[in-house]
Amino acid sequence: MLPSPRIKGWCPGAWRPMATGDGLLVRVRPPMGELSRQQMLALCDAADTFGSGLIELTSRANFQLRGVSDDSWPLLMAFLVEHQLVSANPEAERQPQLMLAPHWQAGDDSPTIASLLQARGSELAAMPGKVGIAIDAGKAPVLSDSAADFRIERSIEGGLMVRCDGYALGTAVSDVEAVVEQLIRLTHWFVESGGWDTGRMRRHTAPLPDWAPADTAPAASGAKLALGSHPAGQVVGLPFGRATVATLRELVASTSVTAVQVTPWRRLLVKQKLVQGDVAPAVDGLIRHNSDPRLSIDACPGAPYCEQASVATQPLAERLSGLKNSSVHISGCAKGCARRSHADVCLVGEGGRFNLIVNGAADSTPVRTDLTESEALDLVRKLSESS
Ligand code: SF4
Repeated sequence: MLPSPRIKGWCPGAWRPMATGDGLLVRVRPPMGELSRQQMLALCDAADTFGSGLIELTSRANFQLRGVSDDSWPLLMAFLVEHQLVSANPEAERQPQLMLAPHWQAGDDSPTIASLLQARGSELAAMPGKVGIAIDAGKAPVLSDSAADFRIERSIEGGLMVRCDGYALGTAVSDVEAVVEQLIRLTHWFVESGGWDTGRMRRHTAPLPDWAPADTAPAASGAKLALGSHPAGQVVGLPFGRATVATLRELVASTSVTAVQVTPWRRLLVKQKLVQGDVAPAVDGLIRHNSDPRLSIDACPGAPYCEQASVATQPLAERLSGLKNSSVHISGCAKGCARRSHADVCLVGEGGRFNLIVNGAADSTPVRTDLTESEALDLVRKLSESS
């Protein structure tokens, strides 16, 4: 028998969808952070047939479908399993989320470690649902600002290391097998030292064990994927992390597209075999230029999509997207799903009005409260002009 779909209050999945303001939210974790072209088209079909026709890309590099009804959810799950977008085993979704640094290629350490970790997934300790692992073993870490509790990175000397979130330094390990062994031990240490109470590694104050000294520096961080052409194809942005199935179908319509890799930056790496001189066609509804002003604004789905929200966020984000020199975060509530770091200006919904936070996160102390939408817009524009 299928489990009940109405579950709330933690990270949703596909087998454990979350009830939201516009129906069930079903989150799909692309295996190894990549979908083939056929899987991408199947995901579009799923969103079209069983959901609202919108697909979102989350800050943890997952896709999510919205607007799924209780009745259509079992049919959607059968479809997702058939197209290998979701494991047939609901228990697989209880394992920690693996986030791979994008632009990995077969034979790199990142996919090798991910495969080894998946094979030994049952040996990881059972941990709180939000705990995640960043596999970021390219030449330079690129996921340092993305949410993860344990990070596999390249050390400053070029070797592999494992770093616990919240620590500047980590532990050097000899090879990919040793990485996996160290991670498994760390998950058990985390749980045995109170991880279910603290919930996340960043809040976990228990001293690290002797066998996991924080004494090795990671390599300097690398840049996230720039928009536009890329040696593997092209990189496109989803405005505020969202696109319609029509847009995404057009993006992968050409059979020269082989796969799509997800990123935690609202960007997709479309792997495409282009003949020399060919340029990937521009698709309406996507961001293609690094100067696009929408890139400096983060906005969560807001009302009516999220039950926690008392204000609409994305129309306001569109209206503010011409602002220069300011990072802006618009959040439907103080949870701040769209951005965990500070923004120059943050508007947070409360009781149908907005609170204004300057240089802070959604849960920081506001400098102004109880603002109407037009008052909030005026204030943000003035702040931007004076910066
Ligand atoms: S920040 Fe609040 S309103 Fe926005 S998506 Fe998260 S829970 Fe919903």
